[in-house]
Amino acid sequence: MSLAAAALLLLMALLSKSATSAKPADLVLLSARIWTADTTRAEATALAARDGRIVAVGDDAEIRALSGSKTVVVDGKGRRVVPGFIDCHTHMSMGGFGLLGVDLRHTKDPADFTRRLAEFASSRPAGVWITDGAWDHQVWKNPILPTRAMLDPATGGRPACLSRTDGHMVVCNSRALELAKVTRDTPDPPGGIIVRDPGGEPTGVLKDAAMDLIGAVRPARTLVEVEEALATAVRHAAENGVTSVQDLPGNALDLDAWEKLRGEGKLTVRVNYRPSLSDWEKARDRRRAMKNDEWLRIGGVKGYMDGSLGSSTALFFQPYADDPKTSGVYAAEAIPLSKLEGRIAAADAAGLQVEVHAIGDRANAELLDVFERVARKNGPKDRRFRIEHAQHLRADDIPRFARLEVIASMQPYHAIDDGRWAEKRIGLERCRTTYAFRSLVKSGVALAFGSDWDVAPLSPLAGIDAAVNRRTLDGRHPGGWIPEQKISVSEALTAYTSTAARAAFEEEEKGMLTADKVADFVVLSRDPLSIPKSELDTVKVEATVVGGRVVYSR
Ligand SMILES: [Zn+2]
Repeated sequence: MSLAAAALLLLMALLSKSATSAKPADLVLLSARIWTADTTRAEATALAARDGRIVAVGDDAEIRALSGSKTVVVDGKGRRVVPGFIDCHTHMSMGGFGLLGVDLRHTKDPADFTRRLAEFASSRPAGVWITDGAWDHQVWKNPILPTRAMLDPATGGRPACLSRTDGHMVVCNSRALELAKVTRDTPDPPGGIIVRDPGGEPTGVLKDAAMDLIGAVRPARTLVEVEEALATAVRHAAENGVTSVQDLPGNALDLDAWEKLRGEGKLTVRVNYRPSLSDWEKARDRRRAMKNDEWLRIGGVKGYMDGSLGSSTALFFQPYADDPKTSGVYAAEAIPLSKLEGRIAAADAAGLQVEVHAIGDRANAELLDVFERVARKNGPKDRRFRIEHAQHLRADDIPRFARLEVIASMQPYHAIDDGRWAEKRIGLERCRTTYAFRSLVKSGVALAFGSDWDVAPLSPLAGIDAAVNRRTLDGRHPGGWIPEQKISVSEALTAYTSTAARAAFEEEEKGMLTADKVADFVVLSRDPLSIPKSELDTVKVEATVVGGRVVYSR
């Protein structure tokens, strides 16, 4: 290097240093116990933020020096602070509609289901569709599927179509079936099932692709409705310490509504949106046309391999233990598999990150095969294929995730939910590698966490408790269900922060509390890293900060 060049570099360094010290921080946090997610410096007591970004992380003396007369000084009071939680799998508009609508999640039995539905329906104008509900028959002592006979007395002449909590089936009343012209003569569509009574009459339950029969006659939500749902969901995220979501389709107007909220300055959660793989060309064009910034961007596309365990549509190599006639089904878009593979290859070639829902062991194994073939065909690059759920895995397939650099994007709360009845459905042997967090981490697989809200609660703290303790919701496994698959608190935190950022190619800007990252962090009521693990369910979010701004405080 020439002397002149060296002098210039020195001058630039001095200038940038003086610029830093000239402009004080907007916010400093002191006297906290900061877990940074940065393995080179995991602990600190203070940080400073300016213009929405972190300028420094260190001890109180270093950071105090960066404050000025207008700096907001936050006393951490010795509390644990962690990077803002990143949820890798949400359906925010559905969650918002769920918060605004009828809640049938915790009904005791069919009579209670009908009673609560009647109460809600009576508050709705005549003729309006009654939807959502998030019901779950598995919580009933006698877990029979609901039927239209349970809906008709509650809903009167209004059409009703209520979704199960996992989104893989709906139950309709007679009016809705009539409007959709679903009768005993309607054949099951590919990838879907019309549940029928012994006499051959539809019971009202439609599974997977059969749900589209109703979609065709149900009036679409308006942009104003979707925006209201998303705004509700955004507030819920702040309360739960969620500062970023990788959001999946819930409504056709999601992106329009997200863009409106961004334009109105109403986003307090950062959104990485991932439209349907089947519409990958539209996603590619939309990404080119819209502004992709730190608040809202299109990050990739999402496809489907199979259904869900609760609906007996997750695809396995062996039949279901309690229903030997079936071993699950492919999702409609994976029939034939070559169609799905062609779309994955095309989206990957167009530079879209691809994630695909796979629950059963066969769906996961065959999807890994597809990913391997596509990577070979399209050539090496940093593509970070993702499997959403990765719920039931053959032991041999676990190391393949690491070898193929496929991210396991999982939702730990499902483990303590499904863990109540999964053994009945698929037997103990297959459950040993169900939600196999420990095996995946041990094999060096990138494990990223999310909630799948509104299928499960949005709370990352509930997810961390589930991953660490694996206590099923029915209280029957106080020591943990399949306890050998538990992981540590720091591993679970990592899956909700730095690995979650990596899972969306966002590790340069978030996921850790280090200089230049966005100033997104959460103050917790207790320290999950030091309290007894059995008390993790007592930890609460005290405050949520996004871009250096307090967006929630308890
Ligand atoms: Zn989902």
